[in-house]
Amino acid sequence: AKRQGRNTYSVYSEHLSHEMVRRLHLETGLRRALERGEMRVVFQPKMDLATGQISGAEALLRWDSRELGAVSPVEFIPVAEDTGMIIAIGEWVLEEVCRWLARWNRQGHRPVRVAVNLSARQFRDPLLVERVKAIVAAAGVSARQLEFELTESVLVENATEATKALWALRGLGVTLSVDDFGTGYSSLSYLKRFPIDALKIDQSFVRDLPDSSDDKAIVRAIILMGRSLDLALVAEGVETQAQADFLKANQCTYAQGYLFARPISGPEFEAFMVGCDDD
Ligand code: C2E
Ligand code: CA
Ligand code: CA
Ligand code: CA
Repeated sequence: AKRQGRNTYSVYSEHLSHEMVRRLHLETGLRRALERGEMRVVFQPKMDLATGQISGAEALLRWDSRELGAVSPVEFIPVAEDTGMIIAIGEWVLEEVCRWLARWNRQGHRPVRVAVNLSARQFRDPLLVERVKAIVAAAGVSARQLEFELTESVLVENATEATKALWALRGLGVTLSVDDFGTGYSSLSYLKRFPIDALKIDQSFVRDLPDSSDDKAIVRAIILMGRSLDLALVAEGVETQAQADFLKANQCTYAQGYLFARPISGPEFEAFMVGCDDD
């Protein structure tokens, strides 16, 4: 039994050390990623289901590390959060997004709005509002072209600061949406307290549409509630025409997903906008 115990322990500690080594590599790599130019922002179009027009995009971060290869944001964002590096990285994302917006405005495209994901740490940053204001001004774009996506947990766990920060951001003209809606909290009271503009229906509810009667009921309920609260609705992870048809028939306004486009580079997004304008 003793021996078995030791074996169990050693397997466990080996496993742990793998994780720790990976974590260390991620931390070290992240520290140099920006200056080495390993980060890039990609854009996933958001579509207006009724018109088929492009209504905007979500900016998503990509990291191609020299040592680690492509690392998913699902893995590196939490590390950036824990270490505080998300503040510098998030600021860079915002600058990049505003630079692209300025370029697209100059090119004369119909003005698009780009959504940026905001993590808890960024949201708690007391300088956030000033940073956003400065970045937008430096790029010469309107804050109305910016949207922030926040998860329910970010909103609810930081409720006291949240109200102030959200109203201040709203004051700049920024749009606010709840990301991964339906996965975080059972309480919906925050929807009354905060100046929210849109709900993003989590992709886990969209995946099995229109076959799953549970998911159909949930999605219909979210849409009804959102509409009666005067919120815009965006469905995430739309991959099939059948999903899009169901969402459109149930009055969901916007959709995002591989059916329309994967997250694409700035130049590819430009081409995508031109294609949409021609239609
Ligand atoms: P999220 O905000 O929920 O982003 C949606 C994710 O779904 C993205 O994954 C996107 O590429 C993926 N997706 C889009 N359409 C489809 C589809 O049709 N099917 C499927 N299966 N997936 C689809 P990604 O880019 O890997 O990002 C993962 C998460 O990392 C994001 O989830 C977000 O929480 C975080 N993240 C990404 N970029 C940033 C950033 O710049 N800042 C912060 N704070 N977080 C970010
Ligand atoms: Ca998001
Ligand atoms: Ca999401
Ligand atoms: Ca998500």
